Amino acid sequence: MEYRRVRTMGTRCLALIAASLLFYNCNKDQKDTEVNEEIAEVKPKSSYEFGFKLDDFVVKKDTIKSGDTFGAILDRNHIAYPRIYEIVESIKNTFNIRSLRPGKPYTLLCAKDSLQTPQTFIYQPNKEDFVVINFKDSITAYRSTKPIKYVEKEVTASINSTISQALEDKGVSLVLAYKMSDIYAWTIDFTRLQKKDKFKVIYTEKYIDDTIYAGIENIKAAYFNHNKESFYAFEFQKDSLNAPDYYNENAKSLRRAFLKAPVEFKRISSRFNLKRRIALYGNKVRPHKGTDFAAGIGTPIVSTANGTVEKSAYTRGNGNYVKIKHNSTYSTQYLHMQKRKVNVGQYVKQGDVIGWVGMTGNTSGPHVCYRFWKNGVQVDPFALKLPASEPLEEKYKQTYLDYIKPLKEQLDNASTSTKNKNLKLPENQITYN
Ligand SMILES: [Zn+2]
Repeated sequence: MEYRRVRTMGTRCLALIAASLLFYNCNKDQKDTEVNEEIAEVKPKSSYEFGFKLDDFVVKKDTIKSGDTFGAILDRNHIAYPRIYEIVESIKNTFNIRSLRPGKPYTLLCAKDSLQTPQTFIYQPNKEDFVVINFKDSITAYRSTKPIKYVEKEVTASINSTISQALEDKGVSLVLAYKMSDIYAWTIDFTRLQKKDKFKVIYTEKYIDDTIYAGIENIKAAYFNHNKESFYAFEFQKDSLNAPDYYNENAKSLRRAFLKAPVEFKRISSRFNLKRRIALYGNKVRPHKGTDFAAGIGTPIVSTANGTVEKSAYTRGNGNYVKIKHNSTYSTQYLHMQKRKVNVGQYVKQGDVIGWVGMTGNTSGPHVCYRFWKNGVQVDPFALKLPASEPLEEKYKQTYLDYIKPLKEQLDNASTSTKNKNLKLPENQITYN
């Protein structure tokens, strides 16, 4: 269900982006109506920022407005154009003034005299990086980064209603739930969490400049008790060539080589059934060697595992279909697509979109017929114990076990007692099997 959650998160991100766009537009409107607004003077919270002792200056902070330029900002603050030109020319190898973007913050450090002439312009293209342009006397420019601090945290909770509620009760960001559902995507169905499920997580938070909270960085270790079964997860990077991944207490990968379904589906409309009888064909046995996932036309279809496209074609029965060879043992096929997105020979990764749900070929409604081959024979993937992805190699195993020992002890010693006892049934139940 990985892709489904990713899409949910995508939607959330879109919502956030939409919200920030609205916010941005509001700012823009404000700008349009208040053309000659004065920059607010800021009483600095800490006396040092960007490596400057702020008490030595009049500090003015603002954001770049739509249509604003470096020249216009300095001009508004009483720097003459010949000097502005000189500044732009001197710094062009370090910073292109055209890269200023609306909405990004900037700071002017100004002289503490009646004119309040700016001496330094600081631009922040993102939360961490900043560019300093000094022009009090000689002109200099450099780029720098705010100091980043990581703080390790621990949270333990029992689920009384939803995982979101459990985290909210503890004052922890919901991002932790998304990160956990990613880690456990192949082992726990987060849409079917139960009351009394428990979890413990050791994670790191990121802070910029010691004080600015910049979100949850990563999960170092987690324990989930789901349906009275225990699931451990430990982040481990085996070497510099591979990204960190999660393994359990026995050094087994938490990933599975195959996703459970190639679409976000409404229901399984027809299962793999070798003895299926269909009235249409005179009640003869017409085996169904696939699993039909009902989904709306245009729903993206994803490859359930890494592999190479073996077929991307149209036939009268299959309609538009794609077949992917994953290795010498497994292949998968996806039928009745509205449109195909991949070509023969193309390499696809698990979760990549390969086409869209349609009703081409011999079908009575929009769905994807998912066919699964093992050693050249069509089988029911739901009846198979699907292979795990690559386990941690033997040569890394002892290092891994030594590394996780204190983390596991920390998890085992953390208590999951919780005070909040609101009892609600889990929402959003989706059943697969
Ligand atoms: Zn089918």
